[in-house]
Amino acid sequence: MANLRKTLTIFVAAVICTAGVTFSATPVSAAEDEAKFAMVIHGGAGRILKKNLSPEKEAEYRAKLEEALRTGQAILASGGSALDAVVATIQVMENSPLFNAGKGAVFAHEGQNELDASIMDGSNQDAGAVASVTHIKSPIALAREVMENSAHVLLSGAGAEEFAETRGIKLIDPSYFATEKRLQQLKNAIAREKTSSATISAPQWNDPIDPDNKFGTVGAVALDMNGNIAAGTSTGGMTNKRWKRIGDTPIIGAGTYANNQSCGVSSTGHGEFFIRASVAFSICAMMEYKGISLKEAADAIIMKKLVKMGGAGGIVSLDKDGNIAMTFNTEGMYRGYVKGGGDPVTGIYGVGE
Ligand code: ASP
Repeated sequence: MANLRKTLTIFVAAVICTAGVTFSATPVSAAEDEAKFAMVIHGGAGRILKKNLSPEKEAEYRAKLEEALRTGQAILASGGSALDAVVATIQVMENSPLFNAGKGAVFAHEGQNELDASIMDGSNQDAGAVASVTHIKSPIALAREVMENSAHVLLSGAGAEEFAETRGIKLIDPSYFATEKRLQQLKNAIAREKTSSATISAPQWNDPIDPDNKFGTVGAVALDMNGNIAAGTSTGGMTNKRWKRIGDTPIIGAGTYANNQSCGVSSTGHGEFFIRASVAFSICAMMEYKGISLKEAADAIIMKKLVKMGGAGGIVSLDKDGNIAMTFNTEGMYRGYVKGGGDPVTGIYGVGE
C-alpha cells in the first residue's frame, strides 16, 4: 500500500511537471541565441512547495542560485574551461548552508556529516570522485584532484583524506559543516524511526507527512567555448543514513556523467534508484546510440523509467549545442541556467506554482 501510494504520488508529480518543467529551455534573448557557452545547475530536488517556503527564503535561494550561475558564467565568458566553471559554481553552493553539500550538509545517523562528490570531463571521459569524507571543505575540489592527480576514479573515507593531504588540501574540523537546522532534521528522523516500522529511516521522498522531505544536493553542468562539457555533483547524502551508506552522487554514470559527443548530466534524488537506473549515463547513452534529443532522453529516464521504479528526483543537463534540460518527477527542484552573456534564469517549484 505504501509502495502503491509512493508510486502514485510520483506519478502525479510527474504528470504535473512534465508539461513545462522539462525545459528544453527556449532561448529568451539574442545573447542566449548566440551563446557559445552555457551552464545549468541544481540545488536538489524533493518535496519543495511554495506554501512551505517564505518569500524571504525563496529570495535567498534564488539569489544564491544566481550567484552560483554568475560565477560559472564569468569563467566561461573569459574563455575558461567547463571544468573550472563546474568546480567554482559548485563551491558557491557547497559554502552556503542553504544546500545539502559542504556547509549545511545533512547528518548521518551517528551525528556526523559524510560528504560525497564527483566530477567528469566530457572531452576525454576522465572522472574523479570521493565518498564519505568528513574533513574536506570542498569535496568537489577533491574529486577533481582524484581525477587529475591519481590513478583512480573513486576514493573513500580516511584514504581519500590521506590523498587530499598529499595534494596540499588541509583537513578541517567537522564542526564547520554542522547547522542547527540539519541537526534537528536528524533528531526528527530518529524520532520518527522509533514510531514507525521502517528498518532504515531514510527520508520518505514522497511521504507528505515527512517534514524533512526536502533536499539540497548541488550539481552543475557546463559547456565552454571550446565545445567541452563537464559535469559535477556534491552532497551530504540522506539524513540519518547509516552503515557508511553511499548514494548516487559519487557514482560516475549515476550521479554524474559527461561526454562531448552527447551531453553532461548531474542528478539529485533518491540515490539508490539513480544507481540502479544508471541515470546520468543512460541519458547520454540514449542520445548517442538512439540519436534522440536531450529532452526526449531526459523524459524517458526521469519521467518514465524512474517513475515506474518508484525513484523520485531529477537532473540538470546540457548537450553539445547548448540545449538545456531540467527534468524532475518531484514537486520541486532548485535549479537555474544561463546561456552566453544572458541573465540567469532560476526556478524552484513545478508548473503553476
Ligand atoms: N542523491 C543524493 C543521495 O542519494 C541525495 C539528493 O540528491 O538529495 O545521496
